[in-house]
Amino acid sequence: MLRSSPEQHAELRDAVRSLCAQFPDEYHRRIDAERAYPEAFVDALTEAGWLAALIPHEYGGSGLGLAEASVIMEEINRSGGNAGACHGQMYNMGTLLRHGSEQQKQLYLPKIASGEWRLQSMGVTEPGTGTDTTKIKTTALKKGDRYVVNGQKVWISRVQHSDWMILLARTTPLAEVTKKTEGMSIFMVDLRLAEKSGLSVRPIANMVNHETNELFFENLEIPADNLIGREGQGFRYILDGLNAERTLIAAECIGDGRWFIDRVTAYVKDRVVFGRPIGQNQGVQFPIADAYIEVEAADLMRWQACALFDRHEPCGAQANMAKYLAAKASWEAANACLQFHGGFGFAHEYDVERKFRETRLYQVAPISTNMVYAYIAEHVLGLPRSY
Ligand SMILES: Cc1cc2nc3c(=O)[nH]c(=O)nc-3n(C[C@H](O)[C@H](O)[C@H](O)COP(=O)(O)OP(=O)(O)OC[C@H]3O[C@@H](n4cnc5c(N)ncnc54)[C@H](O)[C@@H]3O)c2cc1C
Repeated sequence: MLRSSPEQHAELRDAVRSLCAQFPDEYHRRIDAERAYPEAFVDALTEAGWLAALIPHEYGGSGLGLAEASVIMEEINRSGGNAGACHGQMYNMGTLLRHGSEQQKQLYLPKIASGEWRLQSMGVTEPGTGTDTTKIKTTALKKGDRYVVNGQKVWISRVQHSDWMILLARTTPLAEVTKKTEGMSIFMVDLRLAEKSGLSVRPIANMVNHETNELFFENLEIPADNLIGREGQGFRYILDGLNAERTLIAAECIGDGRWFIDRVTAYVKDRVVFGRPIGQNQGVQFPIADAYIEVEAADLMRWQACALFDRHEPCGAQANMAKYLAAKASWEAANACLQFHGGFGFAHEYDVERKFRETRLYQVAPISTNMVYAYIAEHVLGLPRSY
C-alpha cells in the first residue's frame, strides 16, 4: 500500500479489509459478468454490522461517526469491490433518524441495523425533471388514512434488493405553494407490498453492473403513518441527508483512486518494453504521480467534511468539494491505470475496465459536477443563482 501519511482508523481498516479479502477480484468480476447482485458480499458486510455504522446504539447500530463510516466505504472500493451495491443501506436511514417520529425509529431502525430489513432505495429522480427536483410530477394525495401515489421515477437503485424505499412526492401542487421547495413529502414505501398493489419496476440495463430501475406508480396506496416528518417538508429532509451521501461517495472514489494507483504502479514497475520497465518513462510516471497527488488532496477535504459533519456543524461546501475532488481524482487515476496497462487494461481479467466504468458514474450521480460548481458559486462565492 502506497501512502504518504499514516492511515487514520487503522484497526477499523484492518477489520474491513480482512472481510473484503474473502471476496477477491474473481468474485467481483464474475458478479459483473453475470450482471448479478453481490448478495454474499452484502450479506457478509451486513452480518458484520458494517452497514449499520451510522445507526445509534439505542437502535441496535454501532453509533459510529461519518469518518468511520467513510473508512468502511473506502475500504470496500479499495479492495476491488463496489460499495454502490449497498451504500444506500448506510445513509438512507439518516432521513428517518433525523426526521422520523420516535415510534417510526423504533419500528424501522433496529431491523435495518440487524439487516432484517434493507432500506437501500431512495426515489427522487424523475425522467421529465432530472436535476430540477422541485418540478417532480409524482403526487401523493391524502385520502382518509392513506396517501395515493401516481407518477414515475427513473434511476432508482437497488429496488430489487431492498425491502423499503424512501419516496419523494408532491403532496401540494407546485402552483399552490409560495416556495417551490415546499409541498413535497417523504414516505416509507414497503416495496414488496407495493409491487403487488400499484408499483411496477422496470430494470434499466446500464454501463455499470448497478441495479437501477424505472418505477411506475398507479394508484399505489401508502398508510398515512408512513409519512416521515411533516407533510410538505420532504425536500428539506432529503437535502439534509445529502452531505452524508456526498462525503461517503467521496470516500468510495478515494478507495477507487487508491486501487487504481496501487495496481498501475505495480504493473508499470513490472512491464518491460524497449528493454526497461515502462514506469521508468516520465510520460508514464507523471500522470500516475498527478493522480496520486489529486487523490491525497481529495482525502484531506473528505476528512474536513467528516469532522464538520460529526461535530454537527454546517458542511455543505466541504461535502460537495470532497465529492468533486474525489470523483475527479479517481477518474484521472482510472484513466492512467487503463492507459498504462495498454491492451491488457481492456481485458476483463485485469479488473481495470470494470473499476473504470464503476468510478465514472460519480461525475454524474448522485449529483453532477456542474451542480457542484453551481453550489460553490452560489452558496460559497455569493454569485447569482445560475439556474
Ligand atoms: C446508475 C445511476 C444510479 C442512480 N441512482 C439513483 C437513485 O437511487 N435515486 C435517485 O433518485 N436518483 C438516482 N440516480 C439519478 C441521478 O441522481 C441523476 O442522474 C443525476 O442527478 C442527474 O440527473 P439527470 O440524469 O436527470 O441529468 P440532467 O438533470 O438531465 O442533467 C444532465 C447534465 O446536464 C448538466 N446540467 C443540468 N442542469 C445544469 C445546470 N443548471 N447548470 C449546468 N449544468 C447543468 C449536468 O452536467 C448534468 O450532468 C441515479 C443515476 C444513475 C446513472
